[in-house]
Amino acid sequence: MGKVTGFKEFDRELPAKKSPAERVSNYKEFVGLYSDEKLNKQAARCMNCGIPFCHSGCPLGNIIPEFNDAVYKENWEEAYNILSSTNNFPEFTGRICPAPCESACVLGINRPPVAIEEIEKHIIEIAYSKGYVQPHNTHLRTGKSVAVVGSGPAGLAAAAQLNKAGHLVTVYERDDKAGGLLRYGIPDFKLDKWVVDRRIKLMEESGILFKYNTEVGKDISAKELAENFDAVVLAGGSTIPRNLNIPGRELKGVYFAMEFLKQQNKRVGNSPFDAEDILATDADVVVIGGGDTGSDCVGTSNRHKAKSVKQFEVMFKPPGDRTDSMPWPTYPMVLKTTSSHEEGCERFWGVNTKKFIGDENGNLKSLLVTDVNWEKDIFGRPIKFNEVEGSEREIPCQRVFLAMGFLHPQFEGMLEELGVEIDERGNVKAREGVYQTNVSNVFAAGDMRRGQSLVVWAISEGREAARKVDEYLMGATALASKDAVS
Ligand code: FAD
Repeated sequence: MGKVTGFKEFDRELPAKKSPAERVSNYKEFVGLYSDEKLNKQAARCMNCGIPFCHSGCPLGNIIPEFNDAVYKENWEEAYNILSSTNNFPEFTGRICPAPCESACVLGINRPPVAIEEIEKHIIEIAYSKGYVQPHNTHLRTGKSVAVVGSGPAGLAAAAQLNKAGHLVTVYERDDKAGGLLRYGIPDFKLDKWVVDRRIKLMEESGILFKYNTEVGKDISAKELAENFDAVVLAGGSTIPRNLNIPGRELKGVYFAMEFLKQQNKRVGNSPFDAEDILATDADVVVIGGGDTGSDCVGTSNRHKAKSVKQFEVMFKPPGDRTDSMPWPTYPMVLKTTSSHEEGCERFWGVNTKKFIGDENGNLKSLLVTDVNWEKDIFGRPIKFNEVEGSEREIPCQRVFLAMGFLHPQFEGMLEELGVEIDERGNVKAREGVYQTNVSNVFAAGDMRRGQSLVVWAISEGREAARKVDEYLMGATALASKDAVS
């Protein structure tokens, strides 16, 4: 351990961000980097607390106290080796992870937690700049081939690990570029796409093949894929959005969040798109839904120069993150305040939208909403809401973005053709820790199996599924497991 008293001496500090006014003038990332001295101090705050809950709080099992120590001692190569032993893509998680490790940090019980996410980002960026991050040259090939469907973080992690194990990996992606939601969901201001491109280039140089504009189950047969490859990993994500089927849903101006975000990411990335322009410019915007997707719509609307941006969430307002009687955060991360909110957004809690109201041309002109109260069960969990009498009102707005989560993966095409079983939540049925579907050489990982989740979980599932595929193909695996790290 580096500095024994660091946690007493230094306060948590995050790198400077550009001002909201500056940020919304473009789509670039706006969080700066630490000076060497600040990075050193932040790493020194790790207490090496004995039972590092951060490590188990991280779905990847990142070995956090050890890399903090290496950073404090400026052993950059060691820090990178420790970090990359559990995480294929720290440049993604270091930017956009909600950092469950920080929520689990023991220092966080009575002081602000160690800035683990930022430290992670600095380790990987320093590693790139010093040339430590190199293509993985797999000299020994097994002669086995694996198809990975979907190039989101789950598919990419599975591909990287399977390639490391010596299998010939081909990634099929229906979009024109790799990344899944990293590319066409999460806006550039949270994750600049050169960061994704840099990683994909390395993966290509490591021998992984990418086939774009190819939807499995439509452009090529899923069954043939399963016959022609020794194994298949399904990592197609959870893509069917939850709708709001209320009167006026068909009006022009009401869109799913992903229609808006994907188009904007394509616009920024100079990729072509078919649909007509969805712009928030000069409009009163209402975003319905309080999670990451909703906040990305807020940030994007502000960059479009919307006239006003409101966000409605039917849940009640969460209390502070940690309370005296409950040191761990009690509320889901979907209710958090993000940098997009700092850029301009009025948030409303406990509001239910009842109707979209249009003008004579079929354009959205307002919403009919009410306030709601929640009934709770004996554990304090919300179970049912009731309208607050007399609270009904009309909110003028010309654009609505529905960001109420995702229901399940797309069944038509690949999943139906393969005949894989679906679980009771509507996701591909494959037990966690096993990842194998009812079709023996077909495995599943990420949001397609788990339901909508986080990038860090997708990477974790991709890695763990790769182990199971390797075991299936070779009878044993030498790929690292998060459970083996302690
Ligand atoms: P995806 O990233 O969805 O990738 C699936 C890929 O499969 C897609 O590229 C798709 O085109 C492809 N595909 C699907 N079917 C086929 C087929 N039949 N043939 C070929 N290709 C196919 N998580 C965080 O941790 N932090 C965040 O800040 C964050 N922000 C988010 C913002 C938005 C707007 C959204 C929607 C999600 C966000 N998430 C965030 C969640 C996170 O992005 C997902 O949990 C994660 O990307 C899931 O990874 P995945 O690889 O399972 O699927």
